[in-house]
Amino acid sequence: MSLSVNFWEHKTLQEMNNDEWEALCDGCAKCCLHKFIDDENQDEGRPTDVIYEGESIVYTNIACNLLNTKTCGCTQYTTRTKLVPDCVKLTKVNLKDIFFMPPSCAYRRLYENKPLPKWHPLLNKGKKSAMHAANQSIRNKTVNENDVELEDFEDYIVMWPLSDD
Ligand code: SF4
Ligand code: SF4
Repeated sequence: MSLSVNFWEHKTLQEMNNDEWEALCDGCAKCCLHKFIDDENQDEGRPTDVIYEGESIVYTNIACNLLNTKTCGCTQYTTRTKLVPDCVKLTKVNLKDIFFMPPSCAYRRLYENKPLPKWHPLLNKGKKSAMHAANQSIRNKTVNENDVELEDFEDYIVMWPLSDD
């Protein structure tokens, strides 16, 4: 693996090599939750995350069927976008879509010129334990998409994916 020292502090996202790009992911798996754009309910007090001009993203705690909810890892990582068309594979080319990622997402934070959160694995010897302890992963918080009826998605709206500290 080719990682320069504290690369996230002195390289832009565009300047990172592939290993650095991959290492930047905290493995929280919040991006594997079902979410939807809410463009008309901002006054109803529902948890939303404004993205642009009146449009918000609403998170649920419904997890993709391919997610291992204990490790927070994708069980089909290399073929994920073929198996799950909605799976967003963030790349240097589609960074404009970064606002579909949660506020704690390391890519989004660097894109917004924010530092990595103190619980990020890169700041904790590569361990995810600080992230889990800070309640920043999806572990023990989700339901499987196969156990939920599509029309009931609104019952699973949650705010915790929007926390970043
Ligand atoms: S939200 Fe961002 S940092 Fe967390 S797992 Fe997804 S891509 Fe990685
Ligand atoms: S396919 Fe894998 S990476 Fe994509 S949403 Fe599902 S679990 Fe997450």
